[in-house]
Amino acid sequence: MESLFADHDFFDKSSGNNFADIILPVPIPRMFTYKIPKNLQSQIQIGLRVIVQFGKKKVLTGIIGKVHNKPPQAYEAKPILDILDHQPSVNPLQIRFWVWMAEYYFCHIGEVMHAALPSGFMLSSESKIQLNPNFDVESSKYPLDVREEKILEALEKKDELSYEECEEILGMKTIHPILKSLVAKEAILIFERVQEKYTPKVETRVRLNPDIVASKSALESVFEAVQGKPKQESILLKFLRDVPVFQRPQLNEKGVDKATLLEEGDSESSLKTLIKNGVFETFKHVVNRIEEEAAEREASELSSSQQAAFEEIKTHFESKQTVLLHGVTGSGKTEIYIKLIQEVLESGSQVLLLLPEIALTTQIVGRLKQVFGSQMGVYHSKYSDNERVEVWNGVLSGRFSFVVGVRSSIFLPFDSLGLVIVDEEHEPSYKQFDPAPRFHARDAATMLAYFHQARTLLGSATPSFESYANATQGKYGYVQITHRFGDSRLPEFHLANIPSDRKKNLLKLDSTRLLREKIQNALENQQQVIIFQNRRGYSPYVQCEDCSWTGQCVQCDVSLTYHQFAEELRCHYCGYKEKIPQACPACGSSQLTTQGMGTERIEESLSMLFPEARMGRMDLDTTRNKYGYQRLLDEFAAGQIDILVGTQMITKGLDFGKVTVVGIWDGDRILNFPDFRAGERAYQQITQVAGRAGRRDIQGQVVIQTRDPEKDIYEKVIKGDYFEFFRQEMIDRKKYYYPPFVKLVKIITRHADAKVAHKAAHALHLQMANIAVKKIVLGPEKGIIARIKNQYQFESLIKLDKQGNTQAVFKESLAKIIEELQAVPEFRSVRWMVDVDPS
Ligand code: ADP
Ligand code: ZN
Ligand code: ZN
Repeated sequence: MESLFADHDFFDKSSGNNFADIILPVPIPRMFTYKIPKNLQSQIQIGLRVIVQFGKKKVLTGIIGKVHNKPPQAYEAKPILDILDHQPSVNPLQIRFWVWMAEYYFCHIGEVMHAALPSGFMLSSESKIQLNPNFDVESSKYPLDVREEKILEALEKKDELSYEECEEILGMKTIHPILKSLVAKEAILIFERVQEKYTPKVETRVRLNPDIVASKSALESVFEAVQGKPKQESILLKFLRDVPVFQRPQLNEKGVDKATLLEEGDSESSLKTLIKNGVFETFKHVVNRIEEEAAEREASELSSSQQAAFEEIKTHFESKQTVLLHGVTGSGKTEIYIKLIQEVLESGSQVLLLLPEIALTTQIVGRLKQVFGSQMGVYHSKYSDNERVEVWNGVLSGRFSFVVGVRSSIFLPFDSLGLVIVDEEHEPSYKQFDPAPRFHARDAATMLAYFHQARTLLGSATPSFESYANATQGKYGYVQITHRFGDSRLPEFHLANIPSDRKKNLLKLDSTRLLREKIQNALENQQQVIIFQNRRGYSPYVQCEDCSWTGQCVQCDVSLTYHQFAEELRCHYCGYKEKIPQACPACGSSQLTTQGMGTERIEESLSMLFPEARMGRMDLDTTRNKYGYQRLLDEFAAGQIDILVGTQMITKGLDFGKVTVVGIWDGDRILNFPDFRAGERAYQQITQVAGRAGRRDIQGQVVIQTRDPEKDIYEKVIKGDYFEFFRQEMIDRKKYYYPPFVKLVKIITRHADAKVAHKAAHALHLQMANIAVKKIVLGPEKGIIARIKNQYQFESLIKLDKQGNTQAVFKESLAKIIEELQAVPEFRSVRWMVDVDPS
């Protein structure tokens, strides 16, 4: 792959340059050279959005990455068609960041651009119709029918019509034959209107005619004119009440939303008369989709241990770019962040705070909003394209100097970051898997900070081993808080042994007695309970008692999960679903039973055991819509839910004072992670969910149900001895060459034919062994799921030395090898996916 990063002169400004290299959102490993037409030369700047023709038919939005004077050698450069921006939408630091990301994560810069820019910035094209200029009704030799005439009439009033508008005019859905006939009769032309997808939100506002505002006497005569017309007078009075133009004339410029003005039953026709008579005028006003909220609270005073941590962080920042803040759950890391953010904002720099998932951390976001108000932007994963564009533009214009966002917020157009904070830095969800770029937001954010000469703070109660290893080596500063804020103590743990026969319903057994007692006790004392189970749906298996049939996905090699409420079997990998069969599809028996427990079934069972308790469930199925989480969290906060059952969603950041009991329904499921990180992950997940308990004055109780209470890991979590756990795990990781001692690259080979996939994976393996460090290549092995969406997949894991330039050399060879393999006819439709630092 051609190294883009070595090429430093793409920061050049233009002036007399005839060519521009454009970054286009296509998976091809380079930029594309276009000619700069004379009339656009004076406007050309790096980072502007432009429109170009790509291939024969496509028109694409691209970003100017570089301007120069070298014509391309292999092809004739086409001209840039148009420039979409007055000011660059993307700054040179961002382009530098994209280039780094493409190189590091082994993908194409176009893929990075595609991930980085809100799709509202791209173009969309729509078919429209217009009158054929050569058409003349009188002399036309073709008679027109009524519908066709209607369309032509409309085209006399409006230059162009969309298909939707035509449908509306005719009151019907199938308009294609009519339009086709009109084209054949040479009456209309069909063309593609290319436009930006982003549409500003516009409302119609009403204001007084500026001439009237200019003089008191003019207004007096208006009042005279409306005398005896109470409806008009009422509107006028209401307007002046909301907009006291003589005290604050600038308010008139903003006017009043038309709907608001007419809200209290005033008549639209009276307003129309006032407009016709020149008293009022209407105008279009662009409104922010993102609400403005004022700051309403001060930052809290830090406790002495928080203050000490705060000072220590700043001292480290004098000599280190990155600091790891290791503070137990409930130690009050948010308040420390707030102080740091305030200082950086006061110095005039920008701040980015990353959270694993905004919807799950509304409490933190709410707290930050109280302190930072309207200078804080939120970049949500559930935002629409239009909202994303507005946050982007808010950063560009300086409206937001502080952004709280999910992983994609690292792509926002910051130009002077002073501080990046990654909260819950250990969270696996910071890693993006599909589509490329397969980046880790924590690591990328650290790089982003480096480009800005900014500092990075990583916060966690259970740091990732990578980060902690960096701290022990002195690469990162390290700051620890060992106790909770206030008098709150860390929770008390209990292991509850459950028998290993999974055919039995857990609730019928005496073994769940401990958890039940704790729940009962909490309910009696008006406290709340959180139950964690790492599996949604009702029951993971539906099985025939006679022939052992189980429901399998038709596209993936996994069994389907039973969802009782929807009466469906669903695949959690590809979304395939089918109705639950009445009888066994294999033998016809009606003896179908369910096994295992998902959140849905736990909720049902607990509500039978505790009929008085109000139940809530938080998992993917109950939070699909935008406000799903918020509603559940609000109800839980308001005490309208006593027991909240959920998947890993409930393990993150929740801070509810009344939660005293946390139950881990099936601890062993957490240990089943098929990876060298299994121990680390289990430690993190158990500690985090346990950390939701007893965050105020009553000590929390955590019950872990397990078939194997002797397991080491439980003892470690209960002791809370992170350091000892780290030390032991490191011995194994070093011995077997795993991170943080080596770098991992995973390559996934995919094909619809299992044999071809396997053969291709082997061919790759042979080549890789020559370049991997110590020749270590693991695999190819079938993926954790051997088939997903009808694609068979094999995984190879390559271990690389962390020192020197092995990685660069490796990536270069890898690119060559993949290219060569792709040239083999048999492997033409094989897909190779490279995942750097897989997790
Ligand atoms: P962490 O993120 O470290 O788990 P939080 O930031 O959620 O902890 O803080 C735990 C609780 O303690 C929260 O309810 C928070 O409001 C409270 N808290 C933390 N620090 C302070 C402080 N300095 N003053 C008042 N309340 C605080
Ligand atoms: Zn059967
Ligand atoms: Zn499937």
